Amino acid sequence: MAEEKKAVIKKIRATGQMKKIMADYFYEMNDAMKEGSPKIAWCTSVGPAELLLSLGFLVHYPENHGAMLGATRTANNYIPVTNAIGYSPDICSYLTSDVGAFLKKETPLSRAYEGIQEVPRPDVLVFNTNQCRDVQDWLTWYARELDVPVMGISTFRNIGRITDDILQSIAQQTKDLIPPLERISGNKFDIDKFRSVLALSKKCTDLWRKVLETNLAVPAPMSFFDATIHMGPAVVLRGSQAAVDYYEVLLKELEERIQNKEGAVDGEKFRLYWEGMPIWGKLRDLSELFISLKSAVIASTYCNSWIFDAFNPDDPFVSMARAYTEIFIVRDEDFKQKYIEDIVRRYKLDGILFHDAKTCPYNSNNRYGMPERLQQRLNIPTLTINGDLNDLRCYSEEQTKTNVEAFVEQLEAK
Ligand code: SF4
Repeated sequence: MAEEKKAVIKKIRATGQMKKIMADYFYEMNDAMKEGSPKIAWCTSVGPAELLLSLGFLVHYPENHGAMLGATRTANNYIPVTNAIGYSPDICSYLTSDVGAFLKKETPLSRAYEGIQEVPRPDVLVFNTNQCRDVQDWLTWYARELDVPVMGISTFRNIGRITDDILQSIAQQTKDLIPPLERISGNKFDIDKFRSVLALSKKCTDLWRKVLETNLAVPAPMSFFDATIHMGPAVVLRGSQAAVDYYEVLLKELEERIQNKEGAVDGEKFRLYWEGMPIWGKLRDLSELFISLKSAVIASTYCNSWIFDAFNPDDPFVSMARAYTEIFIVRDEDFKQKYIEDIVRRYKLDGILFHDAKTCPYNSNNRYGMPERLQQRLNIPTLTINGDLNDLRCYSEEQTKTNVEAFVEQLEAK
């Protein structure tokens, strides 16, 4: 217990700059909503954002808002509101908390940013079902409620090998979005603009990869819990110069930490993988718990999901189709297992934590024997933490703490 009291999360200096660019992003959208220009698109987190930006839309990401509801621990005020209109407590708690907050006319944006009273109203809603079906149901609810057009891309799922047929289908679906989006935005599609947005996204994603890979160093300079916060610009500002500038600054700071042999966890003893969604309302508590146990959670599927290596401005439609299809969540079990094995070896990890998120089966990869198979193949222990991304009724603090402490004892014994 005495050790736990000393757990201190190290501050990342670049955080100030991140807060500034995130504030600019939200205020710009707030102004656009008031003035009716530029038009605002809502887009799923791994949807065709670059196409929307190239057509002059400002882009709001409902999942980012869902994560804010989770991180501010307000999600549970809203989930029952959405359950009451027929949306099950078992479906995505981003969806249920976001819709519930809308129905109650509340948003964490208004507490974080003075003068912002509501989430920016959409002119169009655009999804890609690459991650799950819930995103389509989510945006379709808003389409009915606000009488706004909804459109999107239906992606194949559980993919092993990505074939040309798959890519051509997705590229064509992306092209088919252009005529209605031109009408809504009032702007003509410009291939050169599209290429330049994609080039900026590519720079952003390359830098984000480098940021995450600083954790190959021992000790690792940044925890998974830090990374979930610092991935904000990669999620909502990819395709902008501001995100590129930000990751250059963050990368420099982390490289300095490596030079100074300064880890996110002082006295790093164990290095761990986090598989699955963050538990947004418990980031700080979990971060402190692992620091107190000298265990660094330093690699994750979740943060890697915003690495889009395939972006290529010379072949924008097909490369974007590939980038948004080759991410982990879209792939089959075999791919996922090999992916995790590779990371465990590269990052010299001692164990794997699986988060079984009650309301997100798509990001809960413990359910079909993966922990047992990885345990056998890698000869390292795994632990499943039961919880949820936003619905804290599914999470037990005490049980998690006991299980994590026992897991670290197991690592020590090993
Ligand atoms: S992947 Fe999971 S958390 Fe993300 S929108 Fe779909 S159901 Fe929700």
